Amino acid sequence: MQTEIKTMKQLMQEKWNKRPLIISGPCSAETEEQVIETATRLAKTGKVDVLRAGIWKPRTKPGLFEGIGAKGLSWLAQAKKITGLPTTVEVATAKHVEDALHFDTDMLWIGARTTVNPFSVQEVADALRGVDVPVLIKNPINPDLELWTGAIERIQKAGIKQVGMIHRGFSNYGNTEYRNAPMWHLPIEMKRRFPEMILICDPSHICGNRTNLQSISQKSIDLDFDGVMIESHIDPDNAWSDAKQQITPERLAEMLDALIWRSEGTDKQEFITALATLREQINHVDDELLALIAQRMKIADKIGAYKRENNITILQTNRWNDILQKAINKGDKLGLSQDFITKYFDAVHLESINHQNKVMNS
Ligand code: PEP
Ligand code: MN
Repeated sequence: MQTEIKTMKQLMQEKWNKRPLIISGPCSAETEEQVIETATRLAKTGKVDVLRAGIWKPRTKPGLFEGIGAKGLSWLAQAKKITGLPTTVEVATAKHVEDALHFDTDMLWIGARTTVNPFSVQEVADALRGVDVPVLIKNPINPDLELWTGAIERIQKAGIKQVGMIHRGFSNYGNTEYRNAPMWHLPIEMKRRFPEMILICDPSHICGNRTNLQSISQKSIDLDFDGVMIESHIDPDNAWSDAKQQITPERLAEMLDALIWRSEGTDKQEFITALATLREQINHVDDELLALIAQRMKIADKIGAYKRENNITILQTNRWNDILQKAINKGDKLGLSQDFITKYFDAVHLESINHQNKVMNS
């Protein structure tokens, strides 16, 4: 067990060029025993740098567990005393900032539901004026890089020097594979905008389950992220929030052991990494395109079913001409040739007709 407690600042400075930064802990602080046992078991793995816990929980619907509140902060302080692990919590209001700092929380993060709201981000920024604490900013729930950038700028303008980003995926209507779709090209664009800033991945909130945690973590590492924040719980199935996605501290250690971290090095290594990053970027965009096309075909299946019920023909030429012309105009503005758009839409249209045909004759 560690004896000397490092300040977050020291830790971040040490870590800045020495990846990875590993943040873990429960989605929510529930009881003092749970926080301390989690922290103790995490510290025992020797692989975790920072202890996280949600104290105030932004829940989608009322009536769910909304966090234990400020008393959880003293449990975290106690866990830090026992394990030496610095702590981090989510803040969404000026009062949260005040309480968290009062209990010597070492690092703060702004959650996805807060990043979307400039009023809230500004309130947090104002409360941080004159304070020296690292702040990690999660992407907004919706895929809007300007909101994410704006939140970073507001926090920086308040004088905070150590600002980092957390990629936790984006809400996507109808997406079933992930709780929040990773849309990797978006955090990569943020890395391009803020090359000096650390970028951490939060596979827990991207996956929403345990099965994909490892592969999402590995993907983020392959894309040159600086660390991961993964939720862990001593009894995941009975967690008061996000039960499906949490893992035990011991499982976390196994997972971290199995990850392959890219080594830093020479210019050549940098070139290889840059190339790999670009290729990964293309792979991920291709994966997302395929998922979107599959989604489009599912909609075509539904249209097929309606047409069958109402006895309408599959091909409606006017509608198709309209779609194609609009796409050609849009493509032109986006730098895509008419030839490509026509071939692409012909192929998509044909597949769509085949899908509808199957539905209508089933
Ligand atoms: C969390 O980290 O527990 C959390 C609420 O995350 P997000 O803001 O990404 O939904
Ligand atoms: Mn959570």
